[in-house]
Amino acid sequence: MRIAVQAESDANESRVAATPETVKALTALGAEVAVEAGAGRKSAIPDEAYAEAGAVIAQGPAAAAAGADVLLRVRRPSAAEVAGVKPGAAVIAIMDPYEHIDALQSLAGAGVSAFAMELIPRITRAQSMDVLSSQANLAGYRAIIDAAASYDRAIPMMMTAAGSVQPARIFIMGVGVAGLQAIATARRIGGVVTATDVRPATKEQVLSLGAKFIAVEDEEFAAAETAAGYAKPMSPEYQAKQAELTASHIAKQDIVVTTALIPGRAAPVLITAEMVRSMRPGSIIVDLAVERGGNCELSRPGETVVSENGVKIIGNLNVAGRVPATASFLYAKNLVSFLQPLIDPASHELAINWDDEIIKATLLTRDGALVHPNFQAPADAGVQAAPASEVAARTAEGEPGPQAPDPAGAPAKTKKARPAKDSNPAGS
Ligand code: NAD
Repeated sequence: MRIAVQAESDANESRVAATPETVKALTALGAEVAVEAGAGRKSAIPDEAYAEAGAVIAQGPAAAAAGADVLLRVRRPSAAEVAGVKPGAAVIAIMDPYEHIDALQSLAGAGVSAFAMELIPRITRAQSMDVLSSQANLAGYRAIIDAAASYDRAIPMMMTAAGSVQPARIFIMGVGVAGLQAIATARRIGGVVTATDVRPATKEQVLSLGAKFIAVEDEEFAAAETAAGYAKPMSPEYQAKQAELTASHIAKQDIVVTTALIPGRAAPVLITAEMVRSMRPGSIIVDLAVERGGNCELSRPGETVVSENGVKIIGNLNVAGRVPATASFLYAKNLVSFLQPLIDPASHELAINWDDEIIKATLLTRDGALVHPNFQAPADAGVQAAPASEVAARTAEGEPGPQAPDPAGAPAKTKKARPAKDSNPAGS
């Protein structure tokens, strides 16, 4: 079996889908691994390191893909980039499937089985494959590092002969995977940290990290978590109370990191322009939800906006990719965890159990068709549609229908235009 790893064609993508460590793991599964020359350059992995781990270095994407049973990527490849793989080869990447049906149709037309890593279900068995978690964790860390680097003052308290420096007050809004890591990092560098969320379970997590929890804790708050562990959209009444609380708190903060998301919807706006006006000059807002519309009214994807009163609002994209070597290390391990059960230990060939719930949740295309019920081509689109019976069966088994919110936190339509090149949800 041959596994190919291509270099990422998006100039803004710094991650790579394999490391020397995972090349060894894949080789141990009985595979020959081909890595495109230069694939690891932006993650500080030279070709020689891959070669030493047992990979064949291929010159160019076509040479890497030629004859491959499996193609590993960070972002969704084009049909041209998968040309040359074996018919039915598994193409595994962060596919960013929402609003990109055309691209999925092309992959279907190329005859590959395309798997979207961001659709891995959040079940215990799949934790080691969960790219949303591995990348969000790094994004939370990096948000604090970016904030500290842009902040004109020191973060920790310092008692010096010249005078005492007060610690920075850091407020984390949204305490999921990214928010928890942001709290931990902010505490490590000496900030005085507060945090908020609408899910009651987060209160204890915040306190256990040594931060203070601030929230409107009413009846709606008590019921704000879905069975899957995500936040529900809050009522206008709750949002008004939350805004009042946020307004008084935020005026006293030096750094605010926002991470609030609701599956299948645009990110909730938690910081209004008026709240930004209440902050002191030099304060920082890092909006990790910017790719999904943003939690701050003034944030812009890929930009740092400076408000009239001198508040910097940072809207970096692909924030996990700003820690590329670590992001690649974790992403590549997620891929090995996903791929290992798909390989027969005796024959070393692909042996995919199409009925497995992880496979069903992530498989987008198979045998020339778009097969995921959430991503169906229009009837006249030219690519064979999945049989209606198969879609009905999948939906009956509890998978969300085409219009349902996505359990894995898929991007919703955003209130601001987002550049196509930076629509990677796992970088958020
Ligand atoms: P997410 O990215 O969907 O959202 C980030 C945070 O924003 C969440 O904590 C959410 O409650 C919060 N939020 C939403 N609306 C808000 C608002 N109006 N105000 C303030 N905060 C708001 O979340 P996530 O990081 O993907 O985590 C979601 C859940 O999944 C958590 O319960 C987490 O523990 C769980 N999880 C489970 C697994 C697993 O079992 N394998 C893995 C990772 C995460």
